[in-house]
Amino acid sequence: MTNIAFIGLGNMGGPMAANLVVAGHRVTGFDLVPAALEAAAASGVTIAATASEAVAQADVIITMLPSGRHVLAAYEGLGAEAGLLDSARPGALFIESSTISVDDARRAHQLAEAAGMRSVDAPVSGGVVGATAATLTFMVGGAVADFELSEPFLSSMGSRIVHCGAPGNGQAAKICNNLILGSAMIAVSEAFVLGEKLGLTNQALFDVASTASGQCWALTTNCPVPGPVATSPANREFQPGFAGALMAKDLGLAVEALESTGVEADIGRLAEAIYRQFAADGGGGLDFSAIIDVIRERSTKESA
Ligand code: NAD
Repeated sequence: MTNIAFIGLGNMGGPMAANLVVAGHRVTGFDLVPAALEAAAASGVTIAATASEAVAQADVIITMLPSGRHVLAAYEGLGAEAGLLDSARPGALFIESSTISVDDARRAHQLAEAAGMRSVDAPVSGGVVGATAATLTFMVGGAVADFELSEPFLSSMGSRIVHCGAPGNGQAAKICNNLILGSAMIAVSEAFVLGEKLGLTNQALFDVASTASGQCWALTTNCPVPGPVATSPANREFQPGFAGALMAKDLGLAVEALESTGVEADIGRLAEAIYRQFAADGGGGLDFSAIIDVIRERSTKESA
């Protein structure tokens, strides 16, 4: 049994903390929202009055917060409030699982190291369903020894744990993957709308592309039209799934990384602009595959 502090008990953190309790750990949690605290307490998490109190006796500290700004403020403290790095025992392992920029993740590592802590960045994919079922994929950046130390805890919350290399590389893998995913979903959606205009049934296009060179996850698992894949969000009015707001956020982080590295990526930048607009226009709460409706609505010209 290990003493674990869990900071950020929201949609993802709540069920992740619950799975650590199931695995037999003593989990102390903190969140700013009373409802999140109540739900966590019901699943066996001990609630602390402050984040500092939560981490004081912990060997492992996990953060699952909205953004890099929140993570760095929690690590360093805000105003009179002590930071997690001041309050934890030297040598504790920090596991940062929020989706944040590669630069912020590297900054968090540096701060942790300067405070005498061990740390990994370990963002996830798999959503709330994966967090609840303990089937998340963790993409981990950090020294080999720190990765090995984190692995048993990550295994209690996920089914696939991949060491991606140096500090920040977990976040790098996450945004590169989502750059592919966002771009692919737009391409698949454009192809279905074009097929519809040309008189092709969605099923016929699916039957060909799903076994031909157009095959990809956006088509075969998260198909943006109802019918061909019974479990895809298109069959349930685009209830997520993976929300458009999160895709817009992740592509924004990818564009930040494109800018800091000088990589020319026309498709990725366009995908970011398309999803940013989609979220601003009210699509943020829908599955990201609902982008097909935007493409369909904009394609109003009658076919020749
Ligand atoms: P959420 O908004 O449901 O949870 C975040 C929680 O952090 C909230 O309960 C909030 O009150 C709490 N919080 C904020 N500041 C705090 C502080 N200083 N101290 C303590 N608690 C604080 O978000 P979520 O969906 O759980 O996502 C968390 C992270 O995981 C995000 O970075 C998100 O991008 C990433 N992520 C989410 C999903 C998903 O499907 N929801 C999938 C993969 C990755």
